[in-house]
Amino acid sequence: MADYLLRGGRVLDPAQGLDVHADLRIRAGRIAEIAPQLAPEAGETVIDCAGCWIAPGLVDIHVHLREPGQSHKETLQTGGEAAITGGFTSICCMPNTEPPLDSPALVRELLQRAERESPCRVYVVAALTQGMRGEQLCDYEALKRAGAVACSDDAFPVQSVAVMRCAMRACAAVGLPVLTHCEETVLTAGASMHEGEVSVRLGLRGMPSSAEAIQIARNALLALETGCHLHIQHLSTAMGLELIRFFRRQGASVTTEVTPHHLLLTHHACEGFDTNAKMNPPLRTPADVDALSEGLILGDIDCIATDHAPHARFEKEQPFGLAPFGIVGLETALGCVLQWNADRGEPLSPLELIARLSTRPAQILGLPAGTLRTGAPADVVVIDPEVRWQVDPTQFRSMGKNSPFTGWTLRGKARYTFIGGVKVSGE
Ligand SMILES: [Zn+2]
Ligand SMILES: [Zn+2]
Repeated sequence: MADYLLRGGRVLDPAQGLDVHADLRIRAGRIAEIAPQLAPEAGETVIDCAGCWIAPGLVDIHVHLREPGQSHKETLQTGGEAAITGGFTSICCMPNTEPPLDSPALVRELLQRAERESPCRVYVVAALTQGMRGEQLCDYEALKRAGAVACSDDAFPVQSVAVMRCAMRACAAVGLPVLTHCEETVLTAGASMHEGEVSVRLGLRGMPSSAEAIQIARNALLALETGCHLHIQHLSTAMGLELIRFFRRQGASVTTEVTPHHLLLTHHACEGFDTNAKMNPPLRTPADVDALSEGLILGDIDCIATDHAPHARFEKEQPFGLAPFGIVGLETALGCVLQWNADRGEPLSPLELIARLSTRPAQILGLPAGTLRTGAPADVVVIDPEVRWQVDPTQFRSMGKNSPFTGWTLRGKARYTFIGGVKVSGE
């Protein structure tokens, strides 16, 4: 195994509060040393990191890898390649596969396959209910023993409050966090975008903000009562954020994430009927985007997650109302977030950005990642924060080309990605 000396970068580790210009040594797959002006040792490959950040590999706790069952959209391999290209070293895959990941055997099998087929570390989020049908609970203890790090019925949110309460109580008992896509589906049936002035003008059925807020309030109440850790997925509304703040003040264990697209785009992106602007939750109003941005800056929103959702071209090339929800995000997330930070006047320091992209998401699900501590596995990303680049989906490693950022110029890109000390991405 090759050893590396990453030289002359800005070393950022939120876990240790570290922000210094220094060198970082990777030896035998682990972080060996961080100090200014380290002398190269025999056999070490020296990489010049001038002008770059050296940070713990990024962590995305919300990814759809589409396996098993939908390998025409993405595979463990292509999804993993997209992740490492984007600077991610750990990703969590969602259970809405075919079949859904609702049994220990399926979780175990996917983890074993990922070990062989994915160049990125993969963690599994198991289903919250059997078949993700929102009726019967899963065996959470067995799922946890099989390696699941959390449970979620993302894409098919549990509608019955009684089922949700039992599920959260049972997950709390075994210490599994519950991740929820918050959507009261009686309010969103047949809808394809946010309900507001744009949906009215386009003549499309819309999803009201209340559909998200109602379930955030419901789930947070249940978190208070059951002691379950609740993580709200892809928060999209200002009202939802206010509710999370309220329930945290009451002592609920609630965390949340925001996607890059909900920080950069509004429902106006749907005006050309571009199906790459169709996602669930939908793009909301400029006021929502401002509120989410403020929440991320203040730390009320804990982390960034992509909700990477690849679809085949023929699926997205349907009329707006018929096309599936979702966009890819692994290869654009870092550039989007740095661009967002630049657009807003750099409210977040590099250290705070890395906290939201790596350390904090790892903490939320208890993943062994998000730090450059000496002795830790060398999951490291070298980021060029200034480079400008144009988004061209034909260059994506992901099989999904469905990006609303096509043609955009973004700022910042991963230059090298290391996993366990192995350089998995970068020239
Ligand atoms: Zn979702
Ligand atoms: Zn999702």
